[in-house]
Amino acid sequence: MSEHPEDSSCEIPGGPPADDRRHRQFDGEAWDGVSPRVYKLGGSSAPGAAWQDVARHTLAGGAGEPMAFQLRYFEIEPGGYSSLEKHRHVHTIVVLRGAGRVVVGREVFDVAPFDFVYVPPNIPHQFVNAGAETFGFLCPVDADRDPPQPLTTEEIHDLLGYPKVREVVRIAEDMGSGIRDPGSETHVVIARGAAPKQSP
Ligand code: MN
Repeated sequence: MSEHPEDSSCEIPGGPPADDRRHRQFDGEAWDGVSPRVYKLGGSSAPGAAWQDVARHTLAGGAGEPMAFQLRYFEIEPGGYSSLEKHRHVHTIVVLRGAGRVVVGREVFDVAPFDFVYVPPNIPHQFVNAGAETFGFLCPVDADRDPPQPLTTEEIHDLLGYPKVREVVRIAEDMGSGIRDPGSETHVVIARGAAPKQSP
C-alpha cells in the first residue's frame, strides 16, 4: 500500500489520467490528457517549506499501470523554487529545459539541459530556477515513498555555513530573520512568505 500524505509533493490527488493511451503528444506546454497540477497542497510554516511557481506533470504511475515508480516532469518559472526538504526516497532528475541551481546537502550544482542529478536518501535538497526561462526537469520517483520532512533549525544553520548554499537556498522570511547573525553580512536570499502559490 502506498502512503498518501496530503502534504507530499508526490501524493497529490490528480495523477495521470487512467486511460490507456500509448502516446501523448507534447504541444509546447503540456502533454495530451495530462493537466499540470499544483506542486504541493496545503501550507506549512516549517523552515524551508516555502515554494514558488512550480508545476507538476505526472506522466505515468499511480493510475493502475504495473510499475513501481511515477514519471513526473516539473517546471519552475523564473524566480521560482521548490521547497527545501529531505526524505528517505531518492531523487534522480534529468534537466530538459532552462537553467537551474540544485542544492544537494552542502553542495550546489549549476545545471543545464541533459544534466543529471542524484539526491541520496535524507539529504536536504532544493531546486531553484537560475535563469529567465522556464526550468524543466524529469523526476521519476518511487510510487511508495515517505513524505518530505522539513529541515530542523540546526540543519539549516549547518547548510548556511556553506557560502554557495547560502547564496542559492530559499527559505521563509521569518526563518531567515530568525537565524541571521545580526553582526554579519548575509547572502541568504530570503523568500517572501511561506504560503504556497498555486501553479496552473
Ligand atoms: Mn524532494
